[in-house]
Amino acid sequence: MHMSPYNVGTSRNWNHWGVITLAVCALLVLTHCDSGFVNSQCTEDQEAIAKEYDSAEWPCEKFVDSVTPGDGTDNHSTGYLSGAYKSGRDAVWSYMSSEFDVSGWIGSDWRCPEGNTRVGGASGSQHVQGTAGDFTADGFDETMWEKFEKAAIDAGRGWNSAKGRYTSHIHIDWR
Ligand SMILES: [Zn+2]
Repeated sequence: MHMSPYNVGTSRNWNHWGVITLAVCALLVLTHCDSGFVNSQCTEDQEAIAKEYDSAEWPCEKFVDSVTPGDGTDNHSTGYLSGAYKSGRDAVWSYMSSEFDVSGWIGSDWRCPEGNTRVGGASGSQHVQGTAGDFTADGFDETMWEKFEKAAIDAGRGWNSAKGRYTSHIHIDWR
């Protein structure tokens, strides 16, 4: 290997204090840039929601889903829906639309902790965990409940509300 006199001379001219000073400066710049980068990924809305949760488990970056307008979201524009919920929800609608002529919607899915308390939801509600939705359709009644429950079971739901528990909807979650 050939090394030019220029390169040898340059490496010999480095002194330890110069290297340490450069390293400390680089660390400061990186640390500063890193914290600024993380903050810029979170909207004010997301940071406000994250403060209602355990911040270690629920950082603001977690709240990226758009939320179905409904009770309990406290006008937040983003929320959190688990992967199991989203695929289960899609399977329920797929089944309902292929088997029955119904037009349905979800009255409430994710709720922030404060919004959930405001609407009288149970603490630790599956809605706060982003695993639940309240499904309904035009003319919701006990017969419609039976259709939704079959769809929910086929979609691998964790739990759903019993017939007659709610008159306006069936709660289905993928806990
Ligand atoms: Zn519910």
